[in-house]
Amino acid sequence: MDCIAKSQKLDHVCYDIRGPVHKEAMRLEEEGHKILKLNIGNPAPFGFEAPDEILVDVIRNLPTSQGYCDSKGLYSARKAIVHYYQTKGIREMTVDDVYIGNGVSELITMSMQALLNDGDEILIPAPDYPLWTAAATLAGGNVRHYLCDEENDWFPNLADMEAKITPRTKAIVVINPNNPTGAVYSKEILLEIVELARKHGLIIFADEIYDKILYDGAVHHHIAALAPDLLTVTFNGLSKSYRVAGFRQGWMVLNGPKQRAAGYIEGLDMLASMRLCATTPMQHAIQTALGGYQSINEFILPGGRLLEQRNRAYELLTQIPGISCVKPMGALYMFPKIDTEMYGISDDTKMVYDLLVQEKVLLVQGSGFNWIKPDHFRIVTLPYVHQIEEAMEKLARFLSQYRQ
Ligand code: PLP
Repeated sequence: MDCIAKSQKLDHVCYDIRGPVHKEAMRLEEEGHKILKLNIGNPAPFGFEAPDEILVDVIRNLPTSQGYCDSKGLYSARKAIVHYYQTKGIREMTVDDVYIGNGVSELITMSMQALLNDGDEILIPAPDYPLWTAAATLAGGNVRHYLCDEENDWFPNLADMEAKITPRTKAIVVINPNNPTGAVYSKEILLEIVELARKHGLIIFADEIYDKILYDGAVHHHIAALAPDLLTVTFNGLSKSYRVAGFRQGWMVLNGPKQRAAGYIEGLDMLASMRLCATTPMQHAIQTALGGYQSINEFILPGGRLLEQRNRAYELLTQIPGISCVKPMGALYMFPKIDTEMYGISDDTKMVYDLLVQEKVLLVQGSGFNWIKPDHFRIVTLPYVHQIEEAMEKLARFLSQYRQ
């Protein structure tokens, strides 16, 4: 009998954050091993609970949220999103420009499916949050990765970005604050990216899901506010800043010359309709989340858990021989560099696999983020300080004996 194969559409699609090393970790866990997981940016399991008022809103509205809602989402939630961006200097938008999805993930996939024809090109950072590359590839696009420069606080290399633009380039993806590097881009670099997009007629996709997770006084700028004359699609959601990743609530907002994008918008509307709507009860959390007191500040300001964990992880990591790291200014991750010559490393997936098997610590290899060399890995800074200390001690012990 013929084997049942996966579709060829998936041949080059890759999402290694939950890939084979993760599967092996799950297997070891089932065998009874305790795994220290520094691999996924999911706040709740690390004791980061959502504000009560968000939970109460969802519970109160549950009885009246049994039906489907508009494909773009509840009016009250979309209105709250419009108000939020108006306070950030993005004015030319209405509730019609807002799409609520089952997480930003669903909207990333949708936004790529609606745009790309086979062979169309899109600029995505290296390293990236790999769903962008996976979604663009699945949609038939050719991904051109522009390099981010570790020597320059992981800011995008604009010369490389421009060199990769061709007549088939349709869009550029900007992830700010960045996963996996933790970079928070300056207004100046964002303006330069906008200028490139303007010159070459590109759409800007701005993934800003970490816009409120900032350290040491870093300031976040919404790129849409800097490019009112360009089509921008801004993504954000409740998973990180409000710690309810399991609620699956994200949104995307279109700004700029929407008349020019009528066809694209028709495509987005069609795809939104095809999956009917995002889960309805959870959308009631959005209005409350965006207004008033922002509890995330308790975690990122001096004395806050996220800040202390980032500081401790940075301190311990950079003490390990052969490891260096740009200190993250935002988000929930660090993307350290490892001296591959010193440890004889040629395969970063094997390195994190060996670490998992020997020390039961789970990280993600840099190549999982479409990084170009086997010389990086990502850690998540969500675990408690004592867990970070244990993980770093085990990583140091592992490396002290490791040769590939
Ligand atoms: N974008 C970035 C940069 C992320 O890091 C993540 C999740 O880690 C997502 C999007 C997906 O978020 P959501 O939970 O809203 O699907």
